[in-house]
Amino acid sequence: MKHIPLRSCIVCRQQKDKGDLLRIVRCGDGDILLDISGKLGGHGAYVCKHGDCMDNAIKKRVLNRVYKCQIDNSVYERLQNDYYRFKTDENGN
Ligand SMILES: [Zn+2]
Repeated sequence: MKHIPLRSCIVCRQQKDKGDLLRIVRCGDGDILLDISGKLGGHGAYVCKHGDCMDNAIKKRVLNRVYKCQIDNSVYERLQNDYYRFKTDENGN
């Protein structure tokens, strides 16, 4: 039987297949990015691809807790922009 790696969403804590989650990554220089390709190196965190989890992660500043630091509003704004672009791209297909 093939082992499917499960990851927990940092917002709702549900375990899901990686394909159902978005990866957020903190790079070595401390920058935090939405990792659409899933290939960036760094400390990864996972959020549900569909539903409200990404919006909640941004609204509730969940990443401050995950990365144990104060994250700038501009970082959250960029994550939100990237997330909306991702959703638009996905719906456009
Ligand atoms: Zn979730």
